[in-house]
Amino acid sequence: MAKRKRFPGLTYTAYAADTDKKAMDALQKIPLLPKVVQKFHEVGYDRWMYAYNMATAVRCGPQQYHKLYDTLRECCEILDMPEPELYVSSNPFPNAFAGGVERPYVTVRSGMIDCLNDEQLYHLIGHELGHIKSGHLLYHSIAAVLIPLLDALGRRTLGVGDALTIGLVLAFLEWSRQAELSADRAGLLCAQDFELSAKANLLLCAGPSRMREDANVDAFLDQSRAYQEMGAMDSIGKLLVFFFYGAQSTHPMPVHRTKELEKWYLSGDYERIMAGATAASTR
Ligand SMILES: [Zn+2]
Repeated sequence: MAKRKRFPGLTYTAYAADTDKKAMDALQKIPLLPKVVQKFHEVGYDRWMYAYNMATAVRCGPQQYHKLYDTLRECCEILDMPEPELYVSSNPFPNAFAGGVERPYVTVRSGMIDCLNDEQLYHLIGHELGHIKSGHLLYHSIAAVLIPLLDALGRRTLGVGDALTIGLVLAFLEWSRQAELSADRAGLLCAQDFELSAKANLLLCAGPSRMREDANVDAFLDQSRAYQEMGAMDSIGKLLVFFFYGAQSTHPMPVHRTKELEKWYLSGDYERIMAGATAASTR
């Protein structure tokens, strides 16, 4: 591929999804939120999660998994942002995540590396960097431990009919879903090829298999359009994310997200940024 474009001065508002901003506003209006944030800091979850990651994953650098590290460095240059730490962990379930409120890091699982080729990794790394650049990490990290945090506050989530608590959980889920859309856009800004981004989402969804050569982006896009045309399905999708919250929630609903990414790609905003419009005022 030709040298990828850089976007000096890129602001996250140039690419962030409006629904991400709206969902964050709604979340911030929930009166219980400040207590949860306070508890998150009090318990020291950020430090715990950082230490756990550091203890269980290999840190990448110029002398360690240098190809992956070079991809991260280039993606940081493209998005014009500071370099977070990068780790690789042994886990066959393909995924990656961004963490660390104080010291941001990206961890890519071995299953994810096996799943994608080097070009597709630009989308994946760009997606994770998008979470960091978009200021998602505090709520992203809280979302990962929301249920234990609520337990620690004595607010059991299911079975006691605490409307405020359930409202908070739902607001977190909705924001998490919307935040993924902004992160996917950052992924596309790094991949700089929509088909490549869609293929990365397809492979994340289907997983690594000996038949991966048969993966077809066009058919996947048809599926994502059909999914979205069934409006009610998305409501069911929201509920599914609720029930599977936790293990599966770091990259929920790849089919839905791919359709949303295609919409943004076709809206003209992507082309405007590629042409050099890097601030929100240009949207
Ligand atoms: Zn994500």
